Amino acid sequence: MAFGKDTLTVRGASLFEPHTGAISTPIYQSSTFRHPGLYQSTGFDYSRVINPTRTELEKTIALLEHGRFGLAFATGMGAISSIIKVYKPGDHLVVSEDLYGGTYRLFTEYYERYGFAFSWVDTSNVSAVEAAVRPETKAIFVETPSNPMMKVTDIRRCAELIHKRGGDLIVDNTFLSPYFQNPLDCGADMVTHSGTKYLAGHNDALSGFIVHSREDLEEPLRNAQKSEGASLAPFDAWLTLRGVKTLGIRMKRCEENAMRIARWLRNHKRVDKVFFTGFEDHPQYGLSCSQACGFGGMISFYVKDPADAPILLKNVSLILFAESLGGVESLITYPLVQTHGAIPEAMRLSAGVNSRLLRLSVGIEDGDDLIADLDAAFRHCGP
Ligand SMILES: *Cc1c(COP(=O)(O)O)cnc(C)c1O
Repeated sequence: MAFGKDTLTVRGASLFEPHTGAISTPIYQSSTFRHPGLYQSTGFDYSRVINPTRTELEKTIALLEHGRFGLAFATGMGAISSIIKVYKPGDHLVVSEDLYGGTYRLFTEYYERYGFAFSWVDTSNVSAVEAAVRPETKAIFVETPSNPMMKVTDIRRCAELIHKRGGDLIVDNTFLSPYFQNPLDCGADMVTHSGTKYLAGHNDALSGFIVHSREDLEEPLRNAQKSEGASLAPFDAWLTLRGVKTLGIRMKRCEENAMRIARWLRNHKRVDKVFFTGFEDHPQYGLSCSQACGFGGMISFYVKDPADAPILLKNVSLILFAESLGGVESLITYPLVQTHGAIPEAMRLSAGVNSRLLRLSVGIEDGDDLIADLDAAFRHCGP
């Protein structure tokens, strides 16, 4: 029987634990498992390779992402690093230029050194993606909405474009979570998540995921997970399972708060521009509605005066000045030096990440309190 996404988030793949009837999936805090005899296994041998708490989470995230296979990693970066193991030196990937700084660092500081090539393009422009594709291009890797400029990439058109050439489309779906967007349904081959963000949702655990439906990718991905060893620990798997139970109500609440705050910021005299995919005049609003069923809780904005940025960061008090996103607590970051510090200045600036840009991850607090906090912080900037 196929359940709706709200049932799936709460009940997980197994609905309950069948051996004892436990409602909460047990934390199998065991590194290894006893073999009944030679050449016999319970299905669980060693926890780097497979662990029952992790398996329940992997199955749950796979169902939420409408995929056949799910793999859980210690972090989002662990997941992305294993995805690259599907390819080989000499292969070329087209990547969103406006993406998580850690992904940029991983690709340029490590995989370029190992002989991979990457082109950084504005993937919200499909013609630019097409122009960047070469005979040796094996994949397109996109973040949509992008981080931090909230540009939206057409998943269906990118999938079509790369499939014609026999390559894969990889989507980092961290910003919308599987609650609001399921890229596999639009033709993506692999979806990745930093589970540290909306999936775990409480700023208390790290995790990462790959979900896909392709038999031919399952063996190389599992092998990369088991060989590299960035497998998710049982306790963090449990925290993520626990977080996922409230994914639906959190996503809706974050979005409701974000919508209010985005409108409020837009009318503020010290704010120049607000980037939020939920605005009807966002350049890809129609596209967002066609491939996602929500806008999420992320907002970026330019203040008019760059001097305001440090003043705001110092004077918010309810909203916390911290990296990361997707938790119940509202956080504000300064992408130029924080999340995107690893990206070269010229590239950051051309993507729009400058000294006037701030990024808000809107949590589930009272919207009135969040607005009052921003209002009070802006008052320190001047009249
Ligand atoms: C945080 C983040 C990552 C990396 O995830 P970690 O869990 O911190 O390793 C990757 N992609 C996006 C979009 C992120 O926000």
